[in-house]
Amino acid sequence: MAQATAERKTSFKKSVSKSAVKYEKLGEMLRKEGQITKDQLNEAIAARKKIDAKMGNVLIQLGYIDEDTLLSFLSRQLNYPIVNISELMINPATMKILTYEQAKQYLVFPIRVANDVLTLAMADPTDNEAIEETQLLTKLSIKAVVSKEKDIINAYKKYYKISEEEYKSFFKDISKDGGEPAIEIKEVDDIGSLVSEAADEVTVEEEEEIKDELTAEAAPIIKLVNGILTKAVRLGASDIHIEPYEKTFRVRYRQDGALYVSLNLPIQIKNALVSRFKILSNLNIAERRVPQDGRIKMRLGKSKSVDFRVSVLPTLFGESIVLRILDKGNLNVDLTKLGFTVEGFANFEKAIKQPFGLVLVTGPTGSGKTTTLYSAINSLNSVDTKILTAEDPVEFNFPGINQVLVRNEVGMTFAAALKSFLRQDPEIILVGEIRDAETAEIAIKAAMTGHLVFSTLHTNDCPSTVGRIIDIGIPGYMVSSALTMVVAQRLMRRICVDCKEEDPNVKKDKQFLIGIGFDEKEIDDIKIMRGKGCPKCNGKGYKGRVAVYEIMTVTEEVKKAITAQVPEDQLRKTAIKEGMITLRMEAIQKVKEGTTTVDEVLKNTVLVKEALPGYLLNPDELIFENDDLIINEGNTDTNFYQLMQGRLEILKDGVKISEISQPGEYFGEMSALLGTARNATIISKGKSIVKVFPGDKIRETLDNYPDISFKIISSLLSRLNDATKKLAVLGEEHIL
Ligand SMILES: [Zn+2]
Repeated sequence: MAQATAERKTSFKKSVSKSAVKYEKLGEMLRKEGQITKDQLNEAIAARKKIDAKMGNVLIQLGYIDEDTLLSFLSRQLNYPIVNISELMINPATMKILTYEQAKQYLVFPIRVANDVLTLAMADPTDNEAIEETQLLTKLSIKAVVSKEKDIINAYKKYYKISEEEYKSFFKDISKDGGEPAIEIKEVDDIGSLVSEAADEVTVEEEEEIKDELTAEAAPIIKLVNGILTKAVRLGASDIHIEPYEKTFRVRYRQDGALYVSLNLPIQIKNALVSRFKILSNLNIAERRVPQDGRIKMRLGKSKSVDFRVSVLPTLFGESIVLRILDKGNLNVDLTKLGFTVEGFANFEKAIKQPFGLVLVTGPTGSGKTTTLYSAINSLNSVDTKILTAEDPVEFNFPGINQVLVRNEVGMTFAAALKSFLRQDPEIILVGEIRDAETAEIAIKAAMTGHLVFSTLHTNDCPSTVGRIIDIGIPGYMVSSALTMVVAQRLMRRICVDCKEEDPNVKKDKQFLIGIGFDEKEIDDIKIMRGKGCPKCNGKGYKGRVAVYEIMTVTEEVKKAITAQVPEDQLRKTAIKEGMITLRMEAIQKVKEGTTTVDEVLKNTVLVKEALPGYLLNPDELIFENDDLIINEGNTDTNFYQLMQGRLEILKDGVKISEISQPGEYFGEMSALLGTARNATIISKGKSIVKVFPGDKIRETLDNYPDISFKIISSLLSRLNDATKKLAVLGEEHIL
């Protein structure tokens, strides 16, 4: 052992690169450079003792520095090259230089060996001890490069094939293993007893205002208010409504988009309860005639904090309070988890990674627009990017993003904010909403002059969003040159996984399903699910929500259509041709995957009928009896037909050469296409129903309606195929 130590020292002195030795510990260096304060460093040192993690990791977790800043600090100030391991191909032989345990001990990963020099990816390349030890183990000189900690851990997973459990063990949470104790609000099981305690506290109504303030500070009222807030968070509710009526006083929660009554409160505690909420939100409790807005911050458990946006509105029977829960934990800022399809996500990512352009997210209130935008912004947030947002209200604070609260009353409108943004040299701008021509115009000009601009509109789908912007006065050519993508979205309730079962009724009405957009051919093969209702979902059959997206990428064709200011349905048609999948079709996909129900699809989306002309939408339907003549050989009429029901025979010179029995099959289109007389006779065998279309429209139909055109051609080809086979048989007969 003693020998080993001696050897270690000599070998270390010989080959450790100079830059690594002379620097002090990472934390101290960051402090000297003004990246963190002395207090932050001390706190990190204390936290580091509790959990076995690297200084950089601790500082990141405490939120005092972000990973990109740390990385650029190491590379810029200390000249360590940044290496992204996931982009490299690692030679398996190189990897074997260190065992997983050895690599893990110092959070390093061997990248390459050349000329007795090992290039070593390190989360903290200032860690001399790690370099020294690795050198000793490998008998190689070490060249340290810096990689993100996550990158190194992912490399362990990929190359050392570590288990999922082992992988997860790297992501320790400081708050769970130490850190500051926080004021904890206990979970409430028996809210009913809190209500009666509170009612006991408030007895007679006298000298209202003074008494309200006093009772609002009384323990039972405080407990009840905490109970109401805690319960909402635990249920995952999005809003709390506290509403006084003439004889009742109730609390309702909005959960997964639907309101339901949670508590009926004794009317006598009305004022005390409202006062308590106002005290918590820093509002004037004596003011009861005008609306007020405030905010409550609540700490829940050790590491969780929840914000409530509070709105107080005087109503006929007292003040009504609505609290919107701004739970950062519930805000899914991970783009990959939002509910995009793989393809949709790829398109969205491509649009938001472009250096400039306008990306619009659209949908009604409560459709999850904010979450999508925040997630996009969050994924682009890095030290080398300046991001400015104008919001009304600012729902969450993101470190590193400059967020501006829009306040119309002082002239800080969306348009005013946007104008000043442009003088602040940002790369990315988020405008909460485009409501007027001025905002729209500045946003579009910003997008055209090298900024990536995000905004929202209250429109129903992608094509109508373009229409709305043109309607508020922006010419089509400007819209088309700025716009890169429109995303329309909805949130649908998700079927509870604990009581999911196949819906026994919904498939009985096939016509209904076809009518709302299901494909006739696949109905038999799919399972349509529902939630039966169970304790986990409060008997509702739904738990949580899932987003559906309609994504319109502004391709060359779409751009042309926008520039030409074509009607909405034509733009939709073009967008669909270019790959857009409508909200309804995306929603139906979620039904087929068993995620949501047909009810939710109907509630949240509409079927946009392709704008078919009348002759295709409502053709005449003819009923034929047995042996009725539909087409007569030699005639020069040109209408074409579609079989809906029954069976037809094709006769040539009175001999049956083929038949038509597939519902949906077209026939009779040859004469219209070629302008020749009918070359065969078609008669009904038994009763049949046939749709008739005007022959002079066949060209137009084939040109404009690809779905129909495809079916017509398929029918034609399958008959040709049939005829060829027949001819072959005839040929053989002749030879015989
Ligand atoms: Zn359930």
